[in-house]
Amino acid sequence: MAKNRYDQDEELVTKLNKDSLKKMGKYLKPHIKTIIITLCLMFAMAIIELLPPYAISEVIDNCLPQKDYTKLFLIAAGLTLGMLIVMIFHRIRSRITNEMATNIIKDLRSDLFRHMQYLPLSFFDSRPHGKILVRVVNYFNAITNLFANGIFDLITNLFKMVVIIVFMLMLNVKFTLVCMAVLPFFAVVLMFIRSHHRKAWHTLSSKQSNLNAYLQESISGIKITQSFAREEVNAGIFDNLCRENKKYWMKAKYIERSIPAFVSVLSVFSVLLIYYRGVGEIKSGAVTIGMLIAFVAYVSEFWQPVISLTALYNEIINCSVYIERIFEMLEEPLVVEDLPDSVDIGDVKGEVTFENVTFRYEEDSPNIFENVSFHVNRGETIALVGPTGAGKSTIINTLSRFYDINDGRILIDDKDIKHVTLNSLHNHLGIMLQDSFLFSGSIMENIRYGKLDATDEQVIEAAKAVCAHEFIMEFPDGYNTIINEGGTSLSAGQKQLIAFARALLADPAILILDEATSSIDTETEIALQKGLDRLLEGRTSFIIAHRLSTIKNSSKIMYVCDKNIAESGTHEELLAKKGRYYSLYMAQYKFLEEI
Ligand code: ADP
Repeated sequence: MAKNRYDQDEELVTKLNKDSLKKMGKYLKPHIKTIIITLCLMFAMAIIELLPPYAISEVIDNCLPQKDYTKLFLIAAGLTLGMLIVMIFHRIRSRITNEMATNIIKDLRSDLFRHMQYLPLSFFDSRPHGKILVRVVNYFNAITNLFANGIFDLITNLFKMVVIIVFMLMLNVKFTLVCMAVLPFFAVVLMFIRSHHRKAWHTLSSKQSNLNAYLQESISGIKITQSFAREEVNAGIFDNLCRENKKYWMKAKYIERSIPAFVSVLSVFSVLLIYYRGVGEIKSGAVTIGMLIAFVAYVSEFWQPVISLTALYNEIINCSVYIERIFEMLEEPLVVEDLPDSVDIGDVKGEVTFENVTFRYEEDSPNIFENVSFHVNRGETIALVGPTGAGKSTIINTLSRFYDINDGRILIDDKDIKHVTLNSLHNHLGIMLQDSFLFSGSIMENIRYGKLDATDEQVIEAAKAVCAHEFIMEFPDGYNTIINEGGTSLSAGQKQLIAFARALLADPAILILDEATSSIDTETEIALQKGLDRLLEGRTSFIIAHRLSTIKNSSKIMYVCDKNIAESGTHEELLAKKGRYYSLYMAQYKFLEEI
């Protein structure tokens, strides 16, 4: 059951912790040289940018009264050169940090995608896919700027503040202390705002995720929406989600905007304070005009990095929410993992043995089957039949080791599948689900998905073998015909045939097939049967069978019910037994006779 509907806010299970930060460090480590160079450039820029007020005080207090024009010229030339250097450093910095950030994002995103592909199916079943999409796409876009600029700006602004304080102290210690007196007040207010801001941003990111989930769901289900004329109802739901988004966006932004406004007020207040004290001291001759002008310039400069830091702080808060969600997914445990002693399964003949297998999906849920035992010889075709929900797909899930069993053993050629690597196991298993999923791309690419290094000739040969070649060649572009995601432009039978070709090309020792239930015309049925016969040749196969022709031709039929295999044997043997299979067969047969 889905943990999260599109309209349920996702709860963050794993908060950003030391471990996550350590992992983040792993992505930064390869770029340590770039980071050091960037910081050196930025420190140099910060110092150069802060020189003018100091130089101006020198000009006002010394050069002009003493008419020292050579010094004046040197100061002017020095400042111009300084600005030029800053410009050049700036360009270099933005080039190298952008490259670094995009590399970090690329590595992190690739790792997330790789991890995602190994996640248990339950992870994908438990949430709308749009919410997964948003983590892999949108959140990364948002954090790119943090790595390109945010982190460096944070360090440089802190450094700038220290340099400004040093300049201020060099000019006047007393004024500096007056100016610093407002800082504790600032810290208290900022801490108060911080907790509200973080919460607001968390809620907003959940709302955006909901919007995305609904959008994705609506696109996938557009056919059903239109056939049930639900367009207006859905537009209403989407409107509500947009309204929610707007509401929380405004709230988050309101809190965000209040910080720089507050800092500006403090900045003006501290400048006023300095003027108030400064004017008196000029009169008494304790300070010079040049010094006061320079000092006030530094006070204004001092609040610039503070404003930048608060803006950055917002960005960091927003991004930390995104990073938390990215790492939460990156740390999502794999239900089934290779054991330390796992070995490659090697060559597979195709014998399958279940020995007293007991399985349940969750620790505290009832067993789906108990003490199931059977043996399948190489090349046999097993038809799994039985009522819906009896556990046919579950047998296949455990054989594919999508889930680990709770008791017993599953052997392939005498090798316990728990002790072989998942990759090598899946390399020898071909799994075809009811809805033969096709990816966007050409028919050629879709068939080649089964064996990426197959030549065009091998692809065509596979298609011919399963009787798909004829219909493919009827398209104007033949094998280069582009099909859309999910293969909606093809009929169910055509999709199935392409999936057969894909499986044949992969040539697995064991084939698992969930037969499509949708009714198809007799001609396609014949083509499918021919294709299937070719696919099954010399291969051990498990078929969740719905078509009588498949069931009758199989080497053995297993009737799954009551948490076990209730009956097992050939079609004739089971009919003679006049048990549950007999009843099922007679019911279907009668039904077919009647139509
Ligand atoms: P069948 O293929 O025979 O129709 P399944 O093997 O799909 O039956 O399902 C057997 C039982 O296991 C059903 O009661 C179903 O609700 C339950 N089940 C199937 N998949 C899951 C899952 N991922 N998590 C929890 N329970 C599941």
